[in-house]
Amino acid sequence: MRIDLHAHSAASDGTDAPAEVVRAAARAGLDVVALTDHDTTSGWDEAAATARRLGIALVPGMEISCQAGGISVHLLSYLHDPSDEALLAETTRTRDDRVGRARRMVERIAEDHPLTWDDVAGQVTDGATVGRPHIADALVARGVVASRDEAFAGILDSRSPYYVRHYAPGAADAVRLVRAAGGVPVMAHPRAGRRGRVVDDEVIAGLADAGLAGLEVDHRDHLPEERVALRALARDLGLLVTGASDYHGTGKLNGIGEHTTSPAVLEAIEATATGTRVVRQ
Ligand code: AMP
Ligand code: FE
Ligand code: FE
Ligand code: ZN
Repeated sequence: MRIDLHAHSAASDGTDAPAEVVRAAARAGLDVVALTDHDTTSGWDEAAATARRLGIALVPGMEISCQAGGISVHLLSYLHDPSDEALLAETTRTRDDRVGRARRMVERIAEDHPLTWDDVAGQVTDGATVGRPHIADALVARGVVASRDEAFAGILDSRSPYYVRHYAPGAADAVRLVRAAGGVPVMAHPRAGRRGRVVDDEVIAGLADAGLAGLEVDHRDHLPEERVALRALARDLGLLVTGASDYHGTGKLNGIGEHTTSPAVLEAIEATATGTRVVRQ
């Protein structure tokens, strides 16, 4: 059994349609894939239909943008109720604020580079969660940079003068909201320090107290020694350990299925969730 619990579609900042993410997972020989777009579940139905057709299992999920003490935290939610009003209120607020934030970043970037809001809007699939990757794609289209990666290494870096923050709920609140919606909260790439500051072990312990279920340990952005430390932390805190690709189509090097989660951990996630079910056949 090969299980990849973290993938993005064009419903947020991936480049593949939801159906194409599922097809890519099947082509890669995966048995299970989770669709975890940023702050939205709008890709679930399309992904589920394709999963049924191809005979691959789909774990409906989402990656919630949060913060702890101003430090960005990404929280994966698996199998929550997509119509839960309290959780929807938070993700709607985040998604709305992401638009104004992207506009403000474009205003700042436009002082130095050829870029308009229309350029960025043209890169966003209708209704998708807007993010910096869409600004990156517009900069690539304008020939300012060659790739998303180059954009993030400079203009879009969180320490760049063009960077603007967006609203995001507190991570402990998000953990509680996911649980209340019947979902299973797992912290995404807890030590991915290349993207900006990361929270320390005490913050993660606090999230465990709030109901966090697991840590995503096997992820491309973690060094071997960071994975060792995270496994030990998960053991100390009684948390599950997952691994996943964080696939974004052609938007990132991450290949679907490059890291995986054990069947026992998926079973534990499924046994805990009450919001929605894994899609099988
Ligand atoms: P935002 O949520 O709008 O602040 O943008 C963050 C998103 O950008 C993350 O979800 C990543 O998927 C993406 N990202 C971060 N670094 C890179 C990179 N070097 N190349 C491509 N995408 C990236
Ligand atoms: Fe992303
Ligand atoms: Fe993330
Ligand atoms: Zn992700």
